[in-house]
Amino acid sequence: MIAVLKAGVSETQKKNLINWIKGQGVDVHISEGQFQTVIGLIGDTSRIDPDLLSGLDIIESVTRISEPFKCANRRFHPADTIVEIGEGENKVKIGGGNFAMIAGPCSVESESQITDIAKAVKASGATLLRGGAFKPRTSPYDFQGMGADGLELLRKARKATGLPIVTEIMSEKHLDLFEDVDLIQVGARNMQNFELLKTLGRTRKPILLKRGLSSTIKEWLMSAEYIMAGGNENIILCERGIRSYDTYTRNVLDLSAIPVVKELSHLPIIVDPSHATGKSRLVPSMSLAAVAAGADGLIIEVHNDPEHALCDGAQSLTPAQFDEVAKKVKALKEIV
Ligand code: PEP
Ligand code: MN
Repeated sequence: MIAVLKAGVSETQKKNLINWIKGQGVDVHISEGQFQTVIGLIGDTSRIDPDLLSGLDIIESVTRISEPFKCANRRFHPADTIVEIGEGENKVKIGGGNFAMIAGPCSVESESQITDIAKAVKASGATLLRGGAFKPRTSPYDFQGMGADGLELLRKARKATGLPIVTEIMSEKHLDLFEDVDLIQVGARNMQNFELLKTLGRTRKPILLKRGLSSTIKEWLMSAEYIMAGGNENIILCERGIRSYDTYTRNVLDLSAIPVVKELSHLPIIVDPSHATGKSRLVPSMSLAAVAAGADGLIIEVHNDPEHALCDGAQSLTPAQFDEVAKKVKALKEIV
């Protein structure tokens, strides 16, 4: 249920109303817009009579929200959420018209690899550096990532370039290791790891929540809701392709998810054309398509030696190819 307050309601009136709602055993989510305040009621609202609420002289309107996601719902929070990542002069904003260009290798492999790539992508306009340290691999015999040592190399690359870092968490047991990671990624395979989501909800860390391999948009937003229900509203959604019947591309990039998510939610949404297609030659066109469809950013895999990459070389751009894409994205953004 949401209650929109009339303009000019005093702070005391607002406070009294919120205390009354909380007294009914219902939590509130408050969104202060430029012209109006929207109070979202979360939990079992069956004890609250909507007619009683709408009869109050400080209330403009009361609407029931039928969707199961509340905090992530655009009706609870009409303005776009802007997530801030990193600190000081390298702080990056995503959402509400702020576009993010995230680039880097699938996996951190060595100090020179990650630092060289970080420098190259920064020169091309990347605003964040990606790199996996804990890797979710289909086979237990494949490279599993460098773990904590990989995180240390990411910190070194951040120091060398100033780029905030994005890396995937696989288990809540690792949370301490991620304390100074700027943006924590929840990968497609963990989108419904509810214990992990609840743990991240108790932090105030920015979270990059990828869409599950075969998840509906509603399931994806419910996973965001798990994090938000704990009080962490710093979430960026990432469309990375979903499973379908065609095996030509690694996944099928669901571009329509961008406008749909923007309708349903206030959270920023970015696109990963690398995991969506699995083929580096398809990454440029899908990057541009994502921008045209209104994405708030891109996350692109870049490797300085794709042929010898320990993970996902076939979908990785070289730094020169990334530079080309970044230029085209910049030009297209100006038109869009
Ligand atoms: C990744 O970003 O390296 C990754 C494994 O992505 P996804 O979870 O989308 O497969
Ligand atoms: Mn990858």
